Amino acid sequence: MLEIYIHIPFCRAKCGYCDFNSAYREEGDVRRYVNRLVREIRKTKYKGQKADTVFIGGGTPSFIKGEYIEEIMSALSESFILANDCEISIETNPDSVSPEKLKAYKRAGINRVSMGVQAFQNKNLKLLGRIHTAERAEEAFHIIREAGFDNINLDLMFSYPTQTLEDWEKTLAKAISLAPEHISAYSLIIEENTPFYKKYKNYQTNEDLDRIMYRKANEMLEAAGYHKYEISNFAKAGKRCRHNVGYWKRYNYLGFGLSAHSLYDNVRFANTDDFQEYMGENIISYEEKLRVKDIIGEFMFLGLRMTEGVSFDEFRIAFNSDIYEVFPGVIEKYSDLGLIERDEKRLWLTEKGIDVSNTIFSDFLL
Ligand code: SF4
Repeated sequence: MLEIYIHIPFCRAKCGYCDFNSAYREEGDVRRYVNRLVREIRKTKYKGQKADTVFIGGGTPSFIKGEYIEEIMSALSESFILANDCEISIETNPDSVSPEKLKAYKRAGINRVSMGVQAFQNKNLKLLGRIHTAERAEEAFHIIREAGFDNINLDLMFSYPTQTLEDWEKTLAKAISLAPEHISAYSLIIEENTPFYKKYKNYQTNEDLDRIMYRKANEMLEAAGYHKYEISNFAKAGKRCRHNVGYWKRYNYLGFGLSAHSLYDNVRFANTDDFQEYMGENIISYEEKLRVKDIIGEFMFLGLRMTEGVSFDEFRIAFNSDIYEVFPGVIEKYSDLGLIERDEKRLWLTEKGIDVSNTIFSDFLL
């Protein structure tokens, strides 16, 4: 299995909480970037391989012209064999989707659209530094649907300063009423080096409220027919994001673009995060052959993020060892505490386990 990630590092404006590699740039820089990206794809040494998923993320891919996305996709389809059922996703923002761009995405073969909405209250959107309104998000959703996309994700956010449980319930209810196929619900982590961090540096996340909001999302989304398949991701039947599942299952993936990361045969490598450097020839800034203990750690903590958990057989095949021998006493300990559940085939986190998942993950690092 091979997955492809394309990074578009542009946004019209920076959201207050965001520490991703993205910035506003003028059209000339965007054009130069797309040329460089297309060249990177065409020169890949992995040419001719079959790809099962493509994810165009950012940044805000819908910030750039639709024809640029078509150029990128045609470079991909010339350099790789895109599977007949290839899942091809693009991230968008409500302020920049348009019928014209969506037509270009269709022509390019894109079959899944993800939109960052975060909240359906204008006061919260403003607080988060989002540049769209709730009304525009709703309108943009309909524009995407009318363009013929039958696989849409909405990103929502909870647990940020001043947000109330009632706000969160209303955001969930509005999202459910639009009936996207997939919903991601993330708890905000305030990252250093963001305007949000400076503004709220003394802010303490209310852990109890955070968990209440998380459970509310579980309850409302499950009742509306969304199945939780990963800690923060919910999908209607058959609409899990295959690209993300592949990431959690540690399939090979190739990243193209500024600061894009790749994992191929357990070698992790990344492109530079410096825009000017990316325009040059030597763009790989980091490469590391993973050690077996790193691979085991990733296998465990990524696997446990998914509700189906970790398969004992898959562990044995991957590492030629028994999971209970590699982690003596760990599984039993968390099982006794009611944080891990298991049967003869798999183990997975319980809802109580999800609440303390980071502590559990750290016990699976060797
Ligand atoms: S739109 Fe997305 S990538 Fe761009 S600044 Fe906001 S959160 Fe970051």
